[in-house]
Amino acid sequence: MSVWIIKDECIGCEACLDSCPYPEAIKMEDGIAVLTDKCVHCGACVDSCPSDAIKMDDKKAAEEVGLEDYAGVWVFIEQRDGKAAGVAYELLCEGRKLADKLGTHVAGVLLGDNVEHLAKEVFAYGADKCYLADHPLFKNYQTDAYTKAIVEMIQEYKPEIVLFGATNNGRDFAARIAVRIRTGLTADCTELTIDDDRMLNQTRPAFGGNVMATIITDKHRPQMATVRPKVMKKGEPDYSRQGELIRFESSVVEEDLHYQILDIVEHAIKTVNLAEADIVVSGGRGIGGPENYCIIEELAETLKAAAGASRAVVDAGWVPHYRQVGQTGKTVAPKLYVACGISGAIQHLAGMQTSDKIVAINKDPDAPIFNVATYGIVGDLHKVVPLLTKKLKEELNK
Ligand SMILES: Cc1cc2nc3c(=O)[nH]c(=O)nc-3n(C[C@H](O)[C@H](O)[C@H](O)COP(=O)(O)OP(=O)(O)OC[C@H]3O[C@@H](n4cnc5c(N)ncnc54)[C@H](O)[C@@H]3O)c2cc1C
Repeated sequence: MSVWIIKDECIGCEACLDSCPYPEAIKMEDGIAVLTDKCVHCGACVDSCPSDAIKMDDKKAAEEVGLEDYAGVWVFIEQRDGKAAGVAYELLCEGRKLADKLGTHVAGVLLGDNVEHLAKEVFAYGADKCYLADHPLFKNYQTDAYTKAIVEMIQEYKPEIVLFGATNNGRDFAARIAVRIRTGLTADCTELTIDDDRMLNQTRPAFGGNVMATIITDKHRPQMATVRPKVMKKGEPDYSRQGELIRFESSVVEEDLHYQILDIVEHAIKTVNLAEADIVVSGGRGIGGPENYCIIEELAETLKAAAGASRAVVDAGWVPHYRQVGQTGKTVAPKLYVACGISGAIQHLAGMQTSDKIVAINKDPDAPIFNVATYGIVGDLHKVVPLLTKKLKEELNK
């Protein structure tokens, strides 16, 4: 959507200034209201204008966008302390497939301080180009600075598709970017394909996971999507691949950082990170109460695994949300997933059914989890899990 002001009809009443939720997005110049580059075209000012001088039109924006001017598949390379998030490499591999279908290039978009070394990895995972904004201001993720820099990059280089990991940061700023450049964004995609009209088909679960919706962005560019970690498969890196490194000088200055990060305190998690783990042991409502989650943790510890949970357990307050596996929790794709006392609701399966091997322990032989399980144990988890832990300890200590 696009908002603009008809100068001749502005009476200089300043009513629009009060209606605007964004600081400095409208200013007065020679008694006339003017939109600045802070305007996100939300349209909040339109109705405030007594002289009908502010207009908003979706069609105008669509006409302004020359779809054919956009080319290339971009992937945001999220990094922390100079180490890229796994989802960035997963998306580079996916981006490569999309770009090959479109006959275009793949580019990684890298922001940080002293992170140039990551470009090698970006090329190894399939990128032809790497746009690098390397500056102390980008040392830590900051919503405003990162949003501004990426918006500038998109406006200058006009990519056709931009993919972000659906991480906390990706979710935080992808939507802002979409609004600023007036395009669409589909969150939490589980499948991305290119159709015969060169359109990105963005598929994601809808209505509580009961249907899969395929969404297209047909009038605006770039087409933007977020994908959760572990949904796409990471390929093998090829370190013989070379690419073009393009340094980007953004106009981000100190004043763009609206808060200061004084210290980063790591949340101490006893077990392995769920999304990155090779083995996950999860407990469901069948564990019976928070006091019994320790048997899940003990089995997880024995297997050097991460401990997860179903939403029923999280909603009951037995474990924190960061342990939740499923549609509204984390997506995991470990080599081994052990589901203890979990029925196998569709929303839970959405987060774990691509695991290589699934072991289900449930006292109900008809529980749907057995439909996706590689191995099933019908029995009381309070007996089976401690026994399994004991046997594994014996075997592993041999
Ligand atoms: C929009 C939406 C999003 C959702 N997102 C998620 C999500 O991200 N993740 C998620 O998990 N759920 C999610 N849900 C909830 C989901 O629908 C289920 O309600 C939930 O997964 C059930 O959790 P559960 O399997 O632990 O509990 P239940 O369905 O109650 O199953 C408990 C199982 O334990 C077994 N059991 C009981 N006692 C024992 C025992 N002693 N030994 C062995 N087995 C035993 C029972 O036979 C049963 O199969 C979502 C729902 C909606 C509507």
